Amino acid sequence: MAHSLSKSRIAAFEQCSRKLWLMTQRPELAEENAGTRARFASGHVVGDVACRQRPGGVMVEADPDLSAALRQTKQLLADGHNGPIFEATFRFEGVLVRCDILERRVDGSWHMVEVKSSTTAKPEHLTDLATQLWVARGAGLRVGAASIRHLNPAFRLPESGDLSGLFVDSTQMEAIEPLVEERGAVVEAARMVLEGAEPSVVPSSHCSKPYDCSFRTHCLAGQPSAEWPVEILPHGGGRRLARMGYTDLRDVPAELISTPGHQRIHRATVTGTVEHDALGAQAAMANWVYPRIWLDFETVSEAVPQWAGCGPWRQVPFQFSAHIETAHGVIDHVEFLQTDGADPRRACAEALAGLPAQGSVIVWFEKFEKDRLAELAKDFPDLAMALASLRDRVVDLLPVARDHWYHRDQRGSWSLKRVLPTIAPQLDYASLDVKDGAQAQDAYREAVAPDTSPERREELEEGLRNYCLRDTKAMIIIAKSLSQDNFANLAH
Ligand code: SF4
Repeated sequence: MAHSLSKSRIAAFEQCSRKLWLMTQRPELAEENAGTRARFASGHVVGDVACRQRPGGVMVEADPDLSAALRQTKQLLADGHNGPIFEATFRFEGVLVRCDILERRVDGSWHMVEVKSSTTAKPEHLTDLATQLWVARGAGLRVGAASIRHLNPAFRLPESGDLSGLFVDSTQMEAIEPLVEERGAVVEAARMVLEGAEPSVVPSSHCSKPYDCSFRTHCLAGQPSAEWPVEILPHGGGRRLARMGYTDLRDVPAELISTPGHQRIHRATVTGTVEHDALGAQAAMANWVYPRIWLDFETVSEAVPQWAGCGPWRQVPFQFSAHIETAHGVIDHVEFLQTDGADPRRACAEALAGLPAQGSVIVWFEKFEKDRLAELAKDFPDLAMALASLRDRVVDLLPVARDHWYHRDQRGSWSLKRVLPTIAPQLDYASLDVKDGAQAQDAYREAVAPDTSPERREELEEGLRNYCLRDTKAMIIIAKSLSQDNFANLAH
């Protein structure tokens, strides 16, 4: 019997034949990660808003099953329903699709709309739309237009909370016709995969493009593993070496490594010796002026903006930690955290404006903090001067670490969380309740939820405070250690 397929299974097949096979034959091996869950959650929120913006629409329910959805769709069309239809369901050649929105056009044909939570139409969206169009047409629907309805990057929520203008249609009818043409062959190829044994596709860069695959653990388990895989070379530096047959970086001759950055990583990995240039680090930080303000933000970013003036996916700071070092080793701590669910920007901007008006502002990866300061300055003109002054004084510790420190346990990364354990292992993030930025966002969302108890909110706040404080403390320790002559030899 031919395997039935769906839009998501065809999309999986187009990413990787093994993914389709595993999804269908061994779904229990999937491991959902936080990123996938967050992507689905924002997709649902955006989909709901898109439907609410089309009043008079009818939702096709898959209750008790998809056969009911097929019947209801058929009935609505037979009855000459003129308003929008949500989740209209069609089957053709054993492929079942549910269309986000169908809208009647003046000529009586239908406008097929696929709603996305991104701010652009992406190639993978077009193949999804093409699959839907192929199926709906095959099932007899007259489709006159097909669009990706994505978030409008220029949208800013007005005071009224009015979401009209949140979406923009990217019309794709002509662009997807070649993709529609090839759907029959794609479906046939997908079926052949399902009739065979598990494909022996080797995990590679395709496993995260366009979506993170949830079968990585399973696929990697069957792979020969290297202790120091060549892929730790950043910016795809290991791909060429992998193609040449190398798996472990230690086996690669030095003359095959071309860039100075990769050469350092290679050297440290082969010898196990830390690469540390204390004099260089001292020189790089020599002009950082006291009081030194060690600053870090935590932000929340939502597809559908909730506060006036914000656009889709705006990073809104709800917390910061600032260690203020008035003289070498003399340090105060200032922090801000708002978890009452109200717009935190004004209070955050005021607290920032209260930081010292002189001195260097030290961050890790300056673009992020500079962008947040610039956005807040634009939001609150009365505080703009103080915020612009902070922004102008930002200096970045990341390139100092990148250029003057490498321990092979960083495995090719200079993220704060990778560098810190190589310098101060006792300050690792593993012991914290909130361990990274994604968990901080989750904790914030739970804290502001109306049904969260005061006790739980306090717990979450404590976790957030400890996490953000750890980031700024980590910067101080890293800077101090990098400047210390002979630190690498003393510590390792
Ligand atoms: S982990 Fe990679 S190789 Fe394995 S199924 Fe997913 S995409 Fe395919």
